[in-house]
Amino acid sequence: MGEIKTIGVLTSGGDAPGMNAAIRAVVRTANAKGVRVIGVRRGYNGLMNGDMIELDARRVSDILQRGGTMLQTARCLEFKDLEGVQRGINIAREFGLGGLVVIGGDGSFRGARDLSNLGFPTIGIPGTIDNDISCTEYCIGFDTALNTAQESVDKLRDTSGSHERCSVVEVMGHGAGYIALYVSICCGGEVCLIPEKPFDYEKDVLQPILDGKKRGKQHDIVVVSEGVTNSVELAKRIEKDTQIESRATILGHVQRGGSPTLRDRLIASQMGYAAVNVLLEGRSNRLIVMRDSKIIDIDITEGLSMPRKVDEKMIEMARILSI
Ligand code: ADP
Repeated sequence: MGEIKTIGVLTSGGDAPGMNAAIRAVVRTANAKGVRVIGVRRGYNGLMNGDMIELDARRVSDILQRGGTMLQTARCLEFKDLEGVQRGINIAREFGLGGLVVIGGDGSFRGARDLSNLGFPTIGIPGTIDNDISCTEYCIGFDTALNTAQESVDKLRDTSGSHERCSVVEVMGHGAGYIALYVSICCGGEVCLIPEKPFDYEKDVLQPILDGKKRGKQHDIVVVSEGVTNSVELAKRIEKDTQIESRATILGHVQRGGSPTLRDRLIASQMGYAAVNVLLEGRSNRLIVMRDSKIIDIDITEGLSMPRKVDEKMIEMARILSI
């Protein structure tokens, strides 16, 4: 393989704060090594349609602190079959790209793996607020989303405390309970419902609320990870069974936005820097991940096959600290 002179960068799947910081790191690291960078717009769609823009160090000024992604993101169904991937490679080569950095989630990494398998050097960077990628301790955007959710739940606590209410708050998670669990621990949730642990309404919701009331609790926070149950119906049921006025709040997409926290900016910078170095060393099909708090690279295929584990100790701790 000849020396890589131009690389592409794209963001794919759900957006996450810090993606811009990663794009900036990719561009500046590559430029510093004399390599040109092309920004591919709207995920894999941009590869299929040749929707690309030239990026240089100045073009990525002033994006470090911005949420969202300057390259936009989108789903691209055509990329799920190898014919689509091959077409993407042909177009990438027409634009002179010798490699690609993909910032996204599990789905995006499957596309990255297929590109690599068909001979197009590709490196993945985990970016998703849900932190639901099993092979890395951390995904870009998680900390910002947590801080956004934390701020909202703290505010809900003020008002539910004043009115002696029960507040059911639904956070994002996309089938993973990390946001719910961390927010519940850090905002003092009385109950936390996550997809990894099936719940029993009487034992896991009603009883802790009633017991808490006996112990002098005057208000409750019930944190629900999206998709686990209907939060509005849950609030109604709690109100009916406990006589405690209950309200549901669905935080929704606010959790996806906002200026990235220092942690997200730092990790996005480290991962963007590492991705370019790996690519320019001539390696492919690698994911940049965090293990034991260090940024390392692993094989994508291996990374995608790892099972997701939930930390039982954290769940137990959330329950104990809520008494
Ligand atoms: P995320 O990357 O956040 O998990 P998606 O699962 O929606 O989000 O995937 C983003 C994009 O990655 C898809 O729109 C598609 O272009 C590509 N992709 C997803 N799954 C595959 C797959 N199995 N093979 C190839 N490309 C895929």
